[in-house]
Amino acid sequence: MRSGLVLNSSALTNGVSLWGRKIRAAASRLRDHSPIAHGVATTMVSAFGVYLNSRFIDPLVFYTDLHAICWPIDGLLIGVLLLCSRRNWPWIMAGYVITTGTHLRLLGEPVIQLAGDTLCNVFEMVFAAAVLPAFNNLSEWLRKPRLILRFSVMVLIGAPLIPALVWSRFAHAYLREEFWSVVGHWLSGDALGIALYTPLVLVLASRETYQLLRPGRRLATLAMFGVLLGASWFIFHQTAYPIAFLIFPILVVMVNWVGFPGAVLAVNAVTIIAAHGTISGAGPFMFIQGHHEPFRIMTLQVYLTIAMVMSFAITLTARERDDFQGQLKLALEQMEVLATHDSLTGLGNRRLFDQTLDAEWSRARRQGMSIGLLLLDADHFKSYNDMYGHLAGDHCLCAIAHSIVPRLKRAGDLAARYGGEEFVVLLPGATLEDASTVAASIREGVEALGLEHKGNASGVVTVSIGFSAVVPDSILPSQRLIAAADEALYAAKQGGRNRVVSASSTALTTCDA
Ligand code: GH3
Ligand code: MG
Ligand code: MG
Repeated sequence: MRSGLVLNSSALTNGVSLWGRKIRAAASRLRDHSPIAHGVATTMVSAFGVYLNSRFIDPLVFYTDLHAICWPIDGLLIGVLLLCSRRNWPWIMAGYVITTGTHLRLLGEPVIQLAGDTLCNVFEMVFAAAVLPAFNNLSEWLRKPRLILRFSVMVLIGAPLIPALVWSRFAHAYLREEFWSVVGHWLSGDALGIALYTPLVLVLASRETYQLLRPGRRLATLAMFGVLLGASWFIFHQTAYPIAFLIFPILVVMVNWVGFPGAVLAVNAVTIIAAHGTISGAGPFMFIQGHHEPFRIMTLQVYLTIAMVMSFAITLTARERDDFQGQLKLALEQMEVLATHDSLTGLGNRRLFDQTLDAEWSRARRQGMSIGLLLLDADHFKSYNDMYGHLAGDHCLCAIAHSIVPRLKRAGDLAARYGGEEFVVLLPGATLEDASTVAASIREGVEALGLEHKGNASGVVTVSIGFSAVVPDSILPSQRLIAAADEALYAAKQGGRNRVVSASSTALTTCDA
């Protein structure tokens, strides 16, 4: 309930999910109306998205001479494929092929070369998305450690490896490029692109992410991102110190607070700033001397991959710890219930009663307040068991217990199973008169259940109740309250059962402890 309240309080979350719902509803209406029109529209949206990527995202992470620091489009589209149903995949890929093909053709790439390049990328994306299950929500995914392993091995390494080898073979044969250098370049750029951008798409599509901006949390989140971005900018845009390592402690502190979605956004932001700094000839990687430029890029790629893997590892461990803490808390609460409640009737057990009596007795003594107690015993219950069986006896005890609870009106009142077919009711703040009223109402309630009991004079199940109440003084022990009610219960049995009897005034003044 609480989380529902929090979600509702975030206008941003609601706005995003409202638009998401509207777009999905419009898309499914179009699909029902005309699947082909829906497919063509999907292709157009995909083509436009690929264009936007090449126009706005690629320039952020590309090195000057088209040596990609990372290759965002494959990672982005794998994320999109995971969010969409498989029947949309061909249309999405068609959009990619159209835009990329046109783009490369305009750059003057021969058709055979651009066809090979594009197909290799299509294979990589479809393979990566196909080995992962459809994405429903972030928490579900992050709770599957195997999935993270599959993502790391099959998607980050496996998916780019095959096209990297095929393409490098082609590039070696037709473009005279050095085979292993092309393999390394493709692998490192695509793996980093997938590692950064696939989680980014999934995170941006998750409600959980927008929780970072909910009122009460917004300021801290923005302050932390501010510090991270400021520090990154400083680290990667100065030329005085080789301080690449400085980002790690900031990331550690930050991702602990912002969780997985925040970590993904943080590492993506650091990547853009680091790429920008390095491209403009500043930052710690410029201190690498005596090597050619690609070596600096590769070092930056390794650095970013480590930052990312470290951040994800921290958030996943933190999430695991939180889950574990949650489970432990739940288990402790369940154990607490088991330890203090009677398994048959669900009422408090003797231990809970003893603890509560001690606490309430001391409180009543301190506050000069009266405390009341009822002892109930089922009439002729032995013969009930004999006539109707032990199992029916158990059901009967449950029925008695459930009829007691609604008669207790105050929050501090406690009903417990005292033992066998005896129950006890503690009424903090109750006078003898109050206790008498509650006792009478419980007795009537049990009789009104109308549970057949041929061995009882009234023909139905009844209880006898003895009750007592007192304002405790400094020497009277709490056991006297029980003993007085017990004496009254005995009197009720002697008096013919199915009745309530008050403890005598003397029973509570004499102290034989
Ligand atoms: P009285 O009216 O004097 O109280 O007679 P009684 O037969 O109820 O008294 P007694 O204490 O002799 O018998 C209590 C019986 O309650 C004995 C036992 O068979 C039964 N009993 C105690 N605990 C349970 C229980 O958990 N389930 C069932 N079915 N019976 C129980
Ligand atoms: Mg008994
Ligand atoms: Mg009895």
